[in-house]
Amino acid sequence: MSETTIAAISTAYGEAGIGIVRTSGPDSLSVLRKVFVPNRAGATAGQLQTGAGSAGDAGVWTPQPRHMYYGRIVDPKDGSVADECLAVFMPGPQSYTGEDVAEVQCHGSVISYKKILALMLENGAQPAEPGEFTKRAFINGRMDLAQAEAVIDLIKARSARSFDCAVGQLEGSLSQKIRSVRAELLDLLTELAVNMDYPDEDIEELTYNRLGNRISLINDELIKLKDSSAEGRILREGLLAAIVGKPNVGKSSLMNVLLREDRSIVTDVPGTTRDTIEEQISLRGITIRFVDTAGIRSSADKVESIGIERSKDAFNRAELLLLVLDSSEAISAEDLELMEMAKDRPVIVILNKDDLPAAGSHGKTIEASGGSDGGNGLSEGMIEDEIRRILPGARMVRLSAKTGEGLLQLEDSIEEYVTGGRVRREEDVLVTNVRHIALIEKAIEELSEAGRMTRAAEAMDFIEVNVRAAFDALGEITGETASGEVIEEVFRRFCLGK
Ligand code: GDP
Repeated sequence: MSETTIAAISTAYGEAGIGIVRTSGPDSLSVLRKVFVPNRAGATAGQLQTGAGSAGDAGVWTPQPRHMYYGRIVDPKDGSVADECLAVFMPGPQSYTGEDVAEVQCHGSVISYKKILALMLENGAQPAEPGEFTKRAFINGRMDLAQAEAVIDLIKARSARSFDCAVGQLEGSLSQKIRSVRAELLDLLTELAVNMDYPDEDIEELTYNRLGNRISLINDELIKLKDSSAEGRILREGLLAAIVGKPNVGKSSLMNVLLREDRSIVTDVPGTTRDTIEEQISLRGITIRFVDTAGIRSSADKVESIGIERSKDAFNRAELLLLVLDSSEAISAEDLELMEMAKDRPVIVILNKDDLPAAGSHGKTIEASGGSDGGNGLSEGMIEDEIRRILPGARMVRLSAKTGEGLLQLEDSIEEYVTGGRVRREEDVLVTNVRHIALIEKAIEELSEAGRMTRAAEAMDFIEVNVRAAFDALGEITGETASGEVIEEVFRRFCLGK
């Protein structure tokens, strides 16, 4: 338990309906008593107790735990009223931090928050650091480290799915999974120790065969967890997708219909320049950050080439490429060039303008890759064949940005890319946090090495070292074996007042 009492403004700093200033620590009640004057039972708002004497009188007011009291925040120095408010006292350990917590709900004015905080600081509290309330909750065993990280993910979630994921982790879904794998590893470590320490005793011998089986069963569980991480990371951070294509194929139109379809939030991503337009949408609960990469071909124009560099950068950074072609026109050299660039990258090819007659169907021709088919005209399906030849793994979607036809299929394709085609069951745990992913990978590496040594029938005490390293790596996820620096680093990401 901490010996200090911290205070901070816990709601967003700005105009709002209400705001909350709170304290946590052993002096929470004493701080609250010094600055809060409750409206006595039966008294009306006009008959509130005021004045320095009553505000500073520590013995008189004993709030019932977790009951809301109406009253005023009063400066004990001079009896001046800071604001009307509601106050609640939550004694530990049944509070967010596990310590005594007091919360004041005041009017949602920055002046009010500041005044109340200042009074709390003058009367026994000290300023909280970012995330310090949650850090205390972790230190006091109210939640483990993975759950604390879920708190910040939940606050920062930008899509419904990532929010749900964070809620699941806060409820302990990941922690339980990690704990159960750790319990299996601990069991194995115990058995290894017994076998090493008492080889002659009458205990079931741990054969290399049985050891190898157990290691690989545990490792399989971790590999399954790791496999969920690609989807988990996208859910948490969003997917960076680039819409690419030569001029006039309908990139802007597509972006616009996607934005219109997005019935939830459309936000500008802070920190992005307007040189490459980045828009964020929530598609079926998945956050997608679209970058429009107009103009990717080289140009002699100096100004234009700066834009092109940026576009190229966006093209390279994108996790998913949406390559737009105009299906009413022949595939051009420029299209081919882009397809070549998209080779070996995750790509969805969009055959836009599907409302228009297809290339080849009305005397239009499709230039074959060499452009030398003499204008005989290729049939409609051949545009697909040509794409498949260059981009064999690509998903293809026919669509009209004008009529909206085909948009659902595009959304299906994007969703399929994110989920890897896996159908997720309710109870499946998704790993979303890069710190967790790295630790799971470390544990897998250690167990794979232990498995290899087992097959080579190496000494059990060597194998034990790797199994223990896997056990410790997983413990860092939930915080059992995390160092002070790791914990500091985790809480540095938090905001003030959380
Ligand atoms: P960008 O240069 O790739 O961004 O292309 P735009 O979105 O500006 O579109 C170029 C032209 O094609 C505009 O005149 C659009 O109205 C038109 N266009 C875009 N998508 C479609 C479509 O699906 N069908 C039809 N018929 N026209 C489209």
